[in-house]
Formats: sequence, structure tokens, C-alpha cells
Amino acid sequence: MRLDHFPEEIRPHLIPGHSGQLVYRCLGCGEEFGIKELLYTCPHCRQVLLLYDLKFNRLKSIPGETWHRIFDYRKMLTLPELKGIYRFHEFIGPVIPLDAVVYLGEGHTPIVEANETMQQRAGLRFFFKNDGQNPSASFKDRGMASALSYINYLVRSGKVSDVLAICASTGDTSAAAALYAAYLQPHIKSAVLLPHKKVTPQQLSQPLGSGARVFEIPGVFDDCMKVVEGLSERFNVALLNSKNAWRILGQESYSYEIAQDFEYDMADKVIALPIGNAGNITAVMNGFLKFLDAGIITCLPKIIGVQSEHADPVFQYYREPDAAKRTFKPVTVKASVAQAAMIGNPVSMPRVINLVDLYNERSGKSNVFFVQVTEQQIMDWELLANRNGHIACTHGGESLAGLVAAKTQGIVDENDVAVIDSTAHALKFSGFQDMYFENKFPGEFAVTPKPELINSPKLVQPEGLEKLPAPGKPLTGSDFSLFVDRVSDEIARELDLKKVQKA
Ligand SMILES: *Cc1c(COP(=O)(O)O)cnc(C)c1O
Ligand SMILES: [Zn+2]
Repeated sequence: MRLDHFPEEIRPHLIPGHSGQLVYRCLGCGEEFGIKELLYTCPHCRQVLLLYDLKFNRLKSIPGETWHRIFDYRKMLTLPELKGIYRFHEFIGPVIPLDAVVYLGEGHTPIVEANETMQQRAGLRFFFKNDGQNPSASFKDRGMASALSYINYLVRSGKVSDVLAICASTGDTSAAAALYAAYLQPHIKSAVLLPHKKVTPQQLSQPLGSGARVFEIPGVFDDCMKVVEGLSERFNVALLNSKNAWRILGQESYSYEIAQDFEYDMADKVIALPIGNAGNITAVMNGFLKFLDAGIITCLPKIIGVQSEHADPVFQYYREPDAAKRTFKPVTVKASVAQAAMIGNPVSMPRVINLVDLYNERSGKSNVFFVQVTEQQIMDWELLANRNGHIACTHGGESLAGLVAAKTQGIVDENDVAVIDSTAHALKFSGFQDMYFENKFPGEFAVTPKPELINSPKLVQPEGLEKLPAPGKPLTGSDFSLFVDRVSDEIARELDLKKVQKA
């Protein structure tokens, strides 16, 4: 729809200007730094940073209802810059001019309500929000759209040139980084570091296909991360891990979309999501907090952070009920089907600690919870969800398993309405489904297939047929008819089909 077709009073708000004043703020010493250069940690105390808008209060002068109309009308605009995460431009990157925005189709992923069978099994009403339907098939595209739009802005304004973007990855970060960097050729090139044999073949093919330099490193993600941190401290590279606060900013769009999808009514809502490096849960909390501050929502949804017992440092930290006694200890990870979350020392832990306190305080009650699930539960819930019309990957299964655990523990009840973060597409992790169906899980996973969830193809090859068709060698005449009849009969027998009654 064209701008001049919108109601007059809303028109001045629809195309966002270039406003706000973003700074990096250190979560350790509280010091603030300008955004002219890319910073990942505080130059003084080495702590992680978050981006804050010093002029955020200007957004509060617009009433919440007006914001609702702005975002809802923006849905109808045909401008590509506002079709993705920058529909929420004022909250995500107000300093980025629209002509620097990189849009590859990210964001506004579908919210799909679970069917009756699934809701009965889970014990409450819930939806999957399918972030696997982003361009590189995971939620990481939200953060990359933000980080690369900002770098694109720096490139266009002549502040940087010949950028080498680099990241460590459990698979999906590198797929997203390589995709967005490829779009910005020749100004930006990318290199990714992956733990050898700890990403799926699909995830390995993604950065290769996008033309990134791909390095496989012995060990697990935490080892790759240290190497990338070492590189970013000594060499001139742009770090694209979620240590980069621009990633967090873009991933906040997930919360904004949920608010919009539920008509900005967050009462009795629950968000369940998996935790790996803890960037996503940071972004989700921060997003809801910002919308609350601006009066766009009037209460905060409950957050359930889910971890596998094979990689659960955040769960372990919060297991201690007395905040004064909590100490963070990295854990040594074990094999996990939620491989993208197989992280023992999450980079964003200081952000989580900071934001959980704030989130609970602004909620006026405990409103962020952490639950632990087994590898078996992750697989069983993923497969069950997909047998009921979803496209969840293992991490979507982990979130659902976590929601069910939270229901069992009384953290949520049957009157709540949950949104499950389905963080990547099922196809990226189909190898784990194969292992389940073929009962080939190495013992370290501790997964035993349930017969009712197993599925496998059956080769139909009727006995006694002399001739079978083959590529380039079709059957003809009576050979072909005989083949069709015999194969049909065998399928009919397998499926127990009834014959059509001829009149
Ligand atoms: C990255 C990732 C996670 C973990 O997110 P963090 O921000 O690292 O906590 C979960 N699921 C999938 C599919 C991912 O790619
Ligand atoms: Zn500091």
C-alpha cells in the first residue's frame, strides 16, 4: 500500500527517520562507549557489552496504542527495508539509515498453533514460532541482518572497508554470517570456524555454498570461540558471534513479533526457548523489557530457558535459590542432539545474570525460569511434534520438552498460553532423526528409540517379476502392466486397502 493511502495522522510515523543515540554499555563497570568503531568487550574491564539508546525516552512520548498502529500499518507497506526486523526500526537500529538495511527475507516467521492432540499431551495451549523459516533456516538471521546492516552502514559511510567478518559457530551462526556477508560482496568477506565433526552436514554445506572460508577446528564450540576471540583481539576482523551486541539487538525482533502477533497482550503468555551461548534469551528478555518501557505492552510474559542435562551451565547456576550464593561454573559438555546449544561456557552469561534480575524486578515476581531436560525427552518431543504437523528441529523439541517439564513442576499452568521457539528447521538436524529411526545413537547420547515414533521406508519389489524398470530403461506393453499391477497389489496389502466395489 502507498504511503498516501494511510490515515493522515499516522503517515509521519510510518517511515522511520534516522534518530536515537546508541552507545555500548559495559555490564561490568557500567562505562559507555560510542559506536563509531566495532567493540565486543569493554576496553577497561573486558566484560561483555549491550547497546542502549540514550534517547530512548523520546519513544515514550508516543502512546502505546499509536505504536500498535504504526507497527500494524507498517505490515502493509511494500518497502523492503521495513519488511523484516526493521519494522521495529526505532527499537532495533534507529541510527541505521534505511538505505543501509540488508533484507534477505528474515523475520516475521509463522506462529502455528499446535493441534488438539499436542495440546492435550502438553497440558496447555501452545504455538510454535517457526524461526527455522528464516533465510538460512535459523533465528540467527535476525541477528545477522542487524550486525550486517550496521557494518554495511559503516562501509557506505566510508568508515570501514574490506571487512573480514569472522565467527565461531555450532553451525547456524556460520550459515547466517556467510549468507549475509555473501550478499554484501565485494565489500565484506567471511570466514567461519566450526568444531570438527560437531556440526551437521547440512550446516557445513551452508557456509561452503555461500563462499565463506571454512575452518574446522578440533574440540568443541568453546574451543573455537577462544580461537576467534584471540583472532579478534590481535587482527583486524569483524566478530559476528553474539558477543557482538548488534546481534542481540536484531534478535530482539523475535519478542516484538510475538507482541504484535498476540495484539500486544502478554498476560498469561509464556515463551520457552533453548539456551546455548545465551545470546537469544538475552535478546528475548531485552526485547520485552524495551516494549514494556515504551508502554507498547503492559506486562511481561514468563520466560522458560531450557537446557539439556548434557550442556546445562545456566540451569546449574540458577539451581541455587539464594542469589548471594550463586557462582557461575562452566561445565564440560557431553554429546547432545541439541548440538547448536552444546555450550559449556556461554559468552552471554553476564548479560543473562544482569537481565534476569531486571526482568523479575519489572515483573514484580519471579518470571524467568530455567529447566533441564534429557536427550531422550528432546528427541521424543521433537518427533511427536513433527508427527503432528510441525517442522521442529531438536532445539524446538528441547523447548517443547522444557515447557512440558515446566508444566509438570507447576511453573506454568493450564491457563497459560505458550510460544515455543523453534529455533531452526527440522532438515538441518535430520541426521538425529535418522539415528533415532535406525536405532544408531552412540551410547553417550543415552537415547533409546520408542517403537511408536520410529518410521522407515519400505522397498517394494514383488518377487517373481522378471523385468523391472530402471533409469533409461523403461518397461513397455504387458511387462509394464504386470509391474504396475504387482507393485500396486503389494502396496495395497501393506496398507490393508479395501477393493473398490464395481457396480
Ligand atoms: C544458536 C542456536 C541456539 C542457541 O542460542 P544461543 O543464543 O546461543 O543461546 C539454539 N538453537 C539453535 C537452532 C541455534 O542455532
Ligand atoms: Zn567495563
